Amino acid sequence: MSTAADTRLPRAERAALARLATDRLRTAAVDAVAIGWVDNAGLARVKAVPVGGLVHAASWGIGAAPCFDAFLVDDSTAEPVADPAADGSGPDPAVPPAGSGAVGDLRLYPDLDRLVPLAAQPGWAWAPADRYTQQDTPHSGCQRLFARRAEAAARARGLTVRAGIEVEWVAALAGPPEEEPRYPTAGPAYGLQRLTDLSDYLRDILRALEQQGLTVLQIHPEYAPGQFEVSVAPEGPVAAADTSVLVRHTVRAVSARHGLRASFAPAVEPGGVGNGSHLHLSLWRDGRNLSHGGPGPHGLTGEAESFLAGVLAALPELLVLGTPSPAGYLRLVPSRWAGAYRCWGLENREAALRLVTGSEGERADTANAEIKCFDGAANPYLAVGAVLAAGLAGIDGGLRLPPETTVDPARLAPGAVDRLPADLGEAVAAYERSAVLREALGEPLYRAVLAVRRAESALFAGCGAEEIIAATRWRY
Ligand code: GLU
Ligand code: MG
Repeated sequence: MSTAADTRLPRAERAALARLATDRLRTAAVDAVAIGWVDNAGLARVKAVPVGGLVHAASWGIGAAPCFDAFLVDDSTAEPVADPAADGSGPDPAVPPAGSGAVGDLRLYPDLDRLVPLAAQPGWAWAPADRYTQQDTPHSGCQRLFARRAEAAARARGLTVRAGIEVEWVAALAGPPEEEPRYPTAGPAYGLQRLTDLSDYLRDILRALEQQGLTVLQIHPEYAPGQFEVSVAPEGPVAAADTSVLVRHTVRAVSARHGLRASFAPAVEPGGVGNGSHLHLSLWRDGRNLSHGGPGPHGLTGEAESFLAGVLAALPELLVLGTPSPAGYLRLVPSRWAGAYRCWGLENREAALRLVTGSEGERADTANAEIKCFDGAANPYLAVGAVLAAGLAGIDGGLRLPPETTVDPARLAPGAVDRLPADLGEAVAAYERSAVLREALGEPLYRAVLAVRRAESALFAGCGAEEIIAATRWRY
């Protein structure tokens, strides 16, 4: 699965499509295109071209240094992790030497299928990028190409995956990075008052998302002060990852227009409920939802059960991709609905894997599973790709789910249900033992992620919650 394939159309076809897209953008008064990717630290990075540069960008890519594969949340760079199999004679394509990255270049290719004018940034459009080398081969460290490979591996077995990533954020008054959040509403958790206080803001988010072609399912206040959530309709895994980037970007842009700023960080206040980034998934074969109508628990088919059992078994190492920051472990604690326990249960919000069937009568369409333990520091392409790899390994191994957890695990005897790793170091130790993720990510990407996680662990070693939160709150 790690073998990288060129997924692009031939250059002449890309150029022709980009010419058409340019005409459409000019008609929509777009001046510039932001071409983005998400790094291993989970931060969205960008290069931009004037609209007249789109045809060249789609044909030949635009330059970006390879050092971004080693970037940390504070913009410093990680030390590379040596490839045990390499003889050291050639450059490592995915992890450049720490602090330098001065030499070499990659090419960002905008995905024209996702090109969209940004409703909350007049004059701007956005497209996610795949990263290739100057030799025109797929970059082995490209997270989006990894997610594409994982999606293709599922498709090769006749499986279609529908995914959706919930976006939670805390809205605060705009201010300098060192300032603690000041909230624009004192409305209670899930309170109608919050909707009233921020009515124009939330309407503008809704409008912008829909103008950008997204189908919003829900937008509502959440539990923590100033916290909200928006969810959108499910789609393919790579598309869902793209959408989560676009949703966040849009929320940020609308926030700025309202004198606000948004934090998608896992932890915003010490001791408080954090921001999750729950991943919903359903598996389909021949147009049929495999989470429904089967002989397994709550109607799971054997294949869906094995897939979920594979995900559940791999959750400790999956945290390295889905809950990647030391800040995430301030959120991932019991009684916050963050899914801190390694168990599954129907509609169990304290289980890391929550089964959601929907109401009787609509289950053939709605039944799905939610991975609750992931947060907004995740690179969504790494998260979805890794979950697919773990799930497919579960199918290969014919895994079955363990007994269901039907109550809040915190009410059970200590040790009755395992906790997920309590810190990033523990998750990294599981990742280092994971042959499945190593194989799926491919050696360069596997090691680039490892380098960034080790470096972020070291960056925050010995720091208290307040320090970790202060350093990450306005970064995600
Ligand atoms: N904010 C919670 C989290 O950290 C999730 C709340 C919910 O279930 O929507 O994941
Ligand atoms: Mg929520």
